[in-house]
Amino acid sequence: MNVKDWTKNVIKQAEIDKYLVNGKDFIDEVEIFEELERQKNPDKQKVRDIIKKSLEIKILTPAETATLLNVEDPELLLEMQEAALEVKRRVYDNRIVFFAPLYLSNLCVNSCVYCGFRAENKEEKRHVLTMDEVREETAAVIDEGHKRMIAVYGEHPKNSADYMADSISTIYATKRTTPTGNGFNNIRRVNVNAAPMEIADLKKLWRAGIGTYQVFQETYHRGRYAELHPAHTIKGNYGWRLYAMHRAMEAGIDDVAIGALFGLYDWRFEVMGLLYHALDLERQFGIGPHTVSFPRMQPAPGSFISEHSPYLVTDEATKRLVTVIRLAIPYTGLIVTARENPEFRRELIHMGCTQTDASSKIGIGAYSKKLRQEENSDKVQFMLGDQRSLDEVIRELAQDGMITSFCTAGYRCGRTGDKIMNLLEKGVEGKFCKLNAVLTFREYLNDYASPETKAIGEQLIERELQEIEHTSFFTDKKLLPTFKSYYDRIAKGERDLYM
Ligand code: SF4
Repeated sequence: MNVKDWTKNVIKQAEIDKYLVNGKDFIDEVEIFEELERQKNPDKQKVRDIIKKSLEIKILTPAETATLLNVEDPELLLEMQEAALEVKRRVYDNRIVFFAPLYLSNLCVNSCVYCGFRAENKEEKRHVLTMDEVREETAAVIDEGHKRMIAVYGEHPKNSADYMADSISTIYATKRTTPTGNGFNNIRRVNVNAAPMEIADLKKLWRAGIGTYQVFQETYHRGRYAELHPAHTIKGNYGWRLYAMHRAMEAGIDDVAIGALFGLYDWRFEVMGLLYHALDLERQFGIGPHTVSFPRMQPAPGSFISEHSPYLVTDEATKRLVTVIRLAIPYTGLIVTARENPEFRRELIHMGCTQTDASSKIGIGAYSKKLRQEENSDKVQFMLGDQRSLDEVIRELAQDGMITSFCTAGYRCGRTGDKIMNLLEKGVEGKFCKLNAVLTFREYLNDYASPETKAIGEQLIERELQEIEHTSFFTDKKLLPTFKSYYDRIAKGERDLYM
């Protein structure tokens, strides 16, 4: 089938319509604008009551979220920031989860005006990784110390669901012997960022062992969406994208990740859109998003709008939107990426983010060739703000008292979807994660850390071990003997032991 015919057959209208209520989707623009207007100049006590609700790890209503979005009082903004950090601490403790993005293809049939991969961009050199190249790239990512990957695919028949399933299996099958030679390291969780798909294709990814499925709506505002995504393209269909996660849930993928590309439209509107998305997933499936992303538009080769959008978001506004998302959907993971520069990324991590990437290369085939983005700017979607190695970022965060986690146990122990949501809300998953964070950090320090990182990491891990020893949850649940034995075995060279 040629590309044109393939494109015509992707969207299945029935797989949009089935989720509508009285023919309408869950983004009611008039209601969002009116709510934002109604909650202007909020009363201090009202804001404090809303903060209190967040601290109980309860999702906020649209009216409550709109109230927080309207706070301008510096004292209240500070209280919100402190509460956001406390929410993060209660649910995720002092952990930060790392992942590496792997771009498998820059072929795309769409033409989003802000993107370097868009079909009309003739400056872009196109390539789809072969399975041998996927293996080489994966090996290079493992050698950095990573255990989690997000595989990124453009929308094109050459990147079909079968190709994705094959590449996921190839990534999982790639193994590297540890430096001590008595074990192996590998990628233990493959998340996917790909175009919206029909349910039958999503089931193929589920069978291949996908971790989280991630699709960003880009902008929840229909008019702006239509301006940026030409109507003749697949991506021009707003509804097909809006219900990508609903279809994923139906296909059995219950860890789903939503996001908006901040800078395309008004940031307050986008935060409301994300909240309505989370609420509709909860309403229809009983499970909210596993993570929320808030990428800020960055310069993209050959894209004028990427630097001149009237809605570009300042650092100050970004901090506010992160704080509000943290409070509004308290159980969710928040992802900040290497799009941001090192200083700002560090600030955002300390405001309640739970996941980030490092040593990232977003050029096709760039890991194995060790290319910096300046050396393959004709194969990247946008420009990164932080190209530091994983080791450097881990060291910086360890100095700040944050432990890096490469834990992938939840997914492999069936703690996903509604099960993990429940555990997160009650603070229980966080406890398991603490043990697994220490186990995977031990692996990292033994196998990949530079002497500087190791020195700082050893002090941190010692403090964590002391804390575990004195936490009643672990003693009550009789988890300590198993944990200690796993820790000792990993220190001696065994790998991939988890609770
Ligand atoms: S944003 Fe995604 S869908 Fe749009 S052109 Fe870029 S790769 Fe294609």
